[in-house]
Amino acid sequence: MIELNNVSKWYGAFQVLDGCSTHVDKGDVVVICGPSGSGKSTLIKTVNGLEPFQQGAITVDGVSVGDPKTTLSTLRARIGMVFQNFELFPHLTVRQNLTLGQVKVLKRSAGEATEKALKYLDRVGLLAQQDKFPSQLSGGQQQRVAIARALAMDPIAMLFDEPTSALDPEMITEVLDVMVGLAQDGMTMMVVTHEMGFARKVADRIIFMDHGKIVEDSPKKEFFATPRSERAREFLARII
Ligand code: ADP
Ligand code: MG
Repeated sequence: MIELNNVSKWYGAFQVLDGCSTHVDKGDVVVICGPSGSGKSTLIKTVNGLEPFQQGAITVDGVSVGDPKTTLSTLRARIGMVFQNFELFPHLTVRQNLTLGQVKVLKRSAGEATEKALKYLDRVGLLAQQDKFPSQLSGGQQQRVAIARALAMDPIAMLFDEPTSALDPEMITEVLDVMVGLAQDGMTMMVVTHEMGFARKVADRIIFMDHGKIVEDSPKKEFFATPRSERAREFLARII
């Protein structure tokens, strides 16, 4: 469903992605980890066209992301993205946060959009908070709203960029539980996270990045049992 072929990207003279190739099949959960600054955020942002790249190719569900003829807004509407800092619309209620994109981008009627919104708010356990504003919610609740908002667009895949790293420890589990549920329901997911408990539970493969390169791309069992690179071994030793 998602394929990256030899993707490279530079910020000026600085190479942030160096020949990255990987793929995510339908229903797969791929966890991306690696040191800070290794290019993880940049890599997943290239997948939905949030970051341009200069070399290589990315296709999502057969659509070429780098092709100037591809309408990026259409592509983005099909891929849900959840960020570290929630990025909810502060001036809209929780329910309005979920309906806006559906109405504006997918041209759904208000009634249909509200129905979807309530379905996904229920799914993340926040139906009762629908009339609140984001600032009235805890960080964990806000992140669950962000996930529900992405799901309400009926995405073909979900991208997560360190979705729990801005949360207090007691809120991490409630967000990870929602993500585990999604994974178990067969959602195609690319997840940048250092939550190795999550990775052990639901990842199919684990990618380890270092200095803009995909250093390892292994099935979960293999990655945890015998990481191939010294850098990955050191990294695992530090975070587990
Ligand atoms: P990670 O998510 O693994 O921490 P990032 O993808 O955010 O890494 O960043 C990779 C590298 O690219 C870092 O060294 C970062 O400083 C650099 N970088 C990120 N965004 C920009 C930018 N807009 N301009 C220049 N350098 C950037
Ligand atoms: Mg990052």
